[in-house]
Amino acid sequence: MVSRGNFIYHMNTQRFEDYYFDIGPMGPPSEWGSLLLRVTRNCPWNRCLFCPAYKNERFQYKKVEEIKRDINVVRALEDEIVRAIAEFGYGKGMTDALVRKEVLSGIIQGNPEIYGMAVEPETRSLRLSSLYQVAYWLSFDGKRVFLQDANSLIMRTHELVEVIGYLRERFPVIERITSYARSKTCAKKSLEEMRELHEAGLSRLHVGLESGCDEVLRYMQKGVTAEEHIKGGRNVVASGISLSEYVMPGLGGKRWSSEHALKTAQVINEINPDFIRIRSLAVLKDSPLYERYCTGEFEQLTDDEMVEEIRIFIENLDCNSYVVSDQMTNILTEIEGQLPQDKGKLLTIIEQYKAKPLMERLEFKLGKYSGSYCDYLDAQGRFDLQLERLIQEAHKSIQNSYPDAETKVDRAILAIKERGVP
Ligand code: SF4
Repeated sequence: MVSRGNFIYHMNTQRFEDYYFDIGPMGPPSEWGSLLLRVTRNCPWNRCLFCPAYKNERFQYKKVEEIKRDINVVRALEDEIVRAIAEFGYGKGMTDALVRKEVLSGIIQGNPEIYGMAVEPETRSLRLSSLYQVAYWLSFDGKRVFLQDANSLIMRTHELVEVIGYLRERFPVIERITSYARSKTCAKKSLEEMRELHEAGLSRLHVGLESGCDEVLRYMQKGVTAEEHIKGGRNVVASGISLSEYVMPGLGGKRWSSEHALKTAQVINEINPDFIRIRSLAVLKDSPLYERYCTGEFEQLTDDEMVEEIRIFIENLDCNSYVVSDQMTNILTEIEGQLPQDKGKLLTIIEQYKAKPLMERLEFKLGKYSGSYCDYLDAQGRFDLQLERLIQEAHKSIQNSYPDAETKVDRAILAIKERGVP
């Protein structure tokens, strides 16, 4: 029993210049539980055809003072939450969902001038998201921070070092600081700069390599060549910063499928990153690539074709990386293991999938995406009847072993993926 009735907590408002900090839209799934802290806004490149993430947003370089102000807000919010937990008097703190709910509710109700309905809605929403973000962070371990948005490394090195230093000074318990970066930016920084960042406390970079095939990179307007991928990746590895490279099966479409798989493996072998993360292509409706898919210029692979691409990719890997397949768009999320020793195990997972009888495989695919991908709401939040009909027809074709079952399942899956999240 953790309820303390009408728990109310009054914040020490003198500690605050403001009650919210800048939080961007995303981070990698493997960094869940990290504090999201925005050091630049949006993407400085913003042209990749498959990516809708920041398309209508302008890149903004933030001043160090602005970022430090945000860090101070996080510090003050954490202190207030910790005091509120102590007043609430229950040892498990924010790791307990009920305590979290009651403590946060006590803070919100106890400070109506900050969180009350009389506050202008946009400001109130920013303050609430900041409070929840810090509480969520503390409910994990409060020791990891992810610097947003798409390419924090674009910051001038001495400024990023200053930000990381300030973060560690205000939060000495922090153990890991990670971020997204573009290969091109990693290639432009000198090794000395990368080492300086590592020494300052930058622990890991997540880089969207996507493909090692220059034709695919050019077509997708990735703004980087295979050579720059290698240079940037090696720079990160040599600096001691842990490197997570994302590869995107399906990005070459039908036209470049096997070259994409082979050349991506070659580039990865040259880099030898700590992690290889598989993130299969989903052509999202709001991405520029969708139009090219609709006109027939870009031909998408089916999931089975992507599985074959992944097989070629893994078979040609010759490195010491840890392979993970933890993205929503991947059909085989169980592919995970350390290379080179687990290569056979990873290939066996693929072979077992391919050996399933057709109808069983179709049922598996459809079940996976229709069960976890979305709840069939359209962009206006209405029940998506058209999508539901596609899924039902696909199910019916499987149940009756109709000859068109595979076509219907693949069509339904593409329609589900269009509505998904990257
Ligand atoms: S994939 Fe990355 S680099 Fe490309 S536009 Fe999106 S956020 Fe920017």
